[in-house]
Amino acid sequence: MDRKMSPESLMMSYGYKPELSEGAIKSPIFQTSTFVFKSAEEGKAFFEVAYGHRAKHAGEELGLIYSRINNPGLEILENRLTLWDQAEECAVFESGMSAITTVLLEFLKPGDLLLMSTPLYGGSDHFIKKVLPKFGIHAISFQVGMTTQDIIKLVEDSGMADKLALIHIETPANPTNDLVDIKGCKDVARHFSTPEKEIYLAVDNTYMGPVWQHPLLHGADLVMYSATKYIGGHSDLIAGACLGSSELITRIKTLRTFLGNMAAPWTCWLMMRSLETLKVRMDMQAINAEKVAEYLNNHPKVERVYYIGNLTEKDGLQYEIRQRQCLTNGGMISFDIKGGEADAFKFLDSLKLIKLAVSLGGTESLAEHPATMTHVDVEPAHRKQLSITEKMIRLSIGVENYNDIIYDIEQALEKVK
Ligand SMILES: *Cc1c(COP(=O)(O)O)cnc(C)c1O
Repeated sequence: MDRKMSPESLMMSYGYKPELSEGAIKSPIFQTSTFVFKSAEEGKAFFEVAYGHRAKHAGEELGLIYSRINNPGLEILENRLTLWDQAEECAVFESGMSAITTVLLEFLKPGDLLLMSTPLYGGSDHFIKKVLPKFGIHAISFQVGMTTQDIIKLVEDSGMADKLALIHIETPANPTNDLVDIKGCKDVARHFSTPEKEIYLAVDNTYMGPVWQHPLLHGADLVMYSATKYIGGHSDLIAGACLGSSELITRIKTLRTFLGNMAAPWTCWLMMRSLETLKVRMDMQAINAEKVAEYLNNHPKVERVYYIGNLTEKDGLQYEIRQRQCLTNGGMISFDIKGGEADAFKFLDSLKLIKLAVSLGGTESLAEHPATMTHVDVEPAHRKQLSITEKMIRLSIGVENYNDIIYDIEQALEKVK
C-alpha cells in the first residue's frame, strides 16, 4: 500500500496474514503454551535472538518459542497499538499496573530518585510510596501549576539531583483533569541528564490515549496505558501497554519475560476486537462529554465543573498545554455538587442509567466518589489541597445517547435537596 493510512483504517487487518491461518479473515486465538520448532537449528537460532545473545540478522524475525515470550495474537496486537502513538515498538501486559510497575523496576535501581506528578493513579502512587522504598528507591512529587524552573529547583533542593533516574507523570490528572506539560517535563529530564546517564520521561496516557493525546510526539520516552480503560473499552478485561523506542521496549520486554506478566491470548484477542471500534467509540464519548459538561456548567446544584473544555485563555499555562497536547477535551468530567458527602451519595444512589462503579473509558457511563473510593488512600490534607473533597463526583462518559445521560443526571440531581 503506498498511501499512508490512518490508524482507524488499519485496525481490522494490520500485521495479520490470513494465508497463515487457513484464510480466516480474523486472527484466531492461538490458545497454546508452546510452539513446535521445525528443527533443532531453528530452535537454537530463536533462543539466541530471544535472549539477546546476538542481534537479529537482516530481515530475521523473532521466531515463536513459548507464550510467555511471544504469541501471534500478542505480536499482532502490539504492532497495531504502535500506529496510534507512532511508536517504534509496544509491549502489552496483563494489567495497567503491570505495565507501570515493569517500567519502574526496569529503569530504577537502589539509591535512585524518581520524580512524579501529583495526583497519580492510586495504584501507581501506592507502588511508588510503599513498595519502591523497600528497594531503596525514593520519590519526590511536584504539583500541577509548577513551571519547569520550579520543578528543576525542587529537584535541586532535594539534595538528590544527581540520583534522578526517571520522571513519571500522568496527564490529565485523575480526577481533577489538571494538565501536566509533557514538553516541560522533558526539559527537566534533559536538564539533569548527563552524557553517561539519560533520564527518561514516562507518561501514563490512560485518560486521553491513544486517540486524543500522543506523548511521544511531545518528547516523552515512554507512554503507558491501562488498556482496561479506553483501549479495551467494554469493561470486560484487564490489560496494559507500554510504547516507545525499540531500544527501551526491548529492555521492558526482557524484564516482562522474567516477571511473566504479558497479556494472555484471549485478552489479546478481545483487545484486537476492541481496537476496531476505538476511534468511533472515543469520538462519540468526547462529543457526549461536551454536552454533559455544558449541562453541568449551567446547573444551580453544581458548584464547580472540572472539564478540560472549560479552560480558556484566562487559565494561562493550563490552557496553553490544552491547546498543545490534547486533540479533544476527553471523556472524563468531575464536578462538585453543592453540599457535602450526603448530597453526593444521594445523587450517586439516584442514578438509573449511569452505573455506580470505578474504572473509566468503557462504552457505558460510570459515576463514582473519588474521596471515599478511588482516592481514599490519599492523605486527607493532600486530598484537600488537590480539591478532592466529599462534594466531588467523577463521571466517565460512555456512548449512550447524550440526551439519556443528561436526563439521568437531571433526575438524580432533582433528588438532592
Ligand atoms: C486504571 C488505571 C491504572 C491501572 O490499570 P489496571 O489496568 O487497573 O491495572 C493506571 N493508571 C490510570 C490512570 C488508570 O486509570
